[in-house]
Amino acid sequence: MSKGIDIQFVRETYQRMTDKELIRIATQDAAGLTPEAQEVVKEEIERRKLDTNIIKGVQAQNKSYTVEEIDEYCNLARNLSCPICETNSAMLNATRTSEVMSFILFTQYKRQLKVACPACLDKANNNALIKTIILGWWGIPWGFIRTIQAIGHNIKDKKTNHNNTPNDYLRSFVLSKIGQFETYRDNKEMLQQIISTE
Ligand SMILES: [Zn+2]
Repeated sequence: MSKGIDIQFVRETYQRMTDKELIRIATQDAAGLTPEAQEVVKEEIERRKLDTNIIKGVQAQNKSYTVEEIDEYCNLARNLSCPICETNSAMLNATRTSEVMSFILFTQYKRQLKVACPACLDKANNNALIKTIILGWWGIPWGFIRTIQAIGHNIKDKKTNHNNTPNDYLRSFVLSKIGQFETYRDNKEMLQQIISTE
């Protein structure tokens, strides 16, 4: 297949999408697009007269960052309200919760990044610990093994909940949503939704 046909196919695919689908793909799933495909997305966004910040979001998913640059995006997140207790009393950060639940035939191990204020992050790790201790241990053998692992992870991961600077979990979270952070960097309401989705 020649490159021309290929690009035409990509163009038609984007043209068939609803605005909502196009915005979602452009802000969340554009990592790894070739420069030609990025150009097609850009044309389509301009053709539909959508917010041109979405184009910056596409570019943001296709570049590399220094820690300082990531931390600038982290600071946008840190100044929002806590998605759990809905207060502004402390700068936000993130943690990873590890939860194990055993069922009769299998054991489920769920790990999740969460953005919140330090007090709510502690609570999230503690809740995951309690749930794991009650519901995880009895599956043989994985329930038991995973329970020990999850206890260790929650204890380790909560250590940076009270850091005064962005921690690595917040950096991972922001990087995983960098297209949305760039597109909506001046839109507090949208950023608030983005950190509340996990
Ligand atoms: Zn909170």
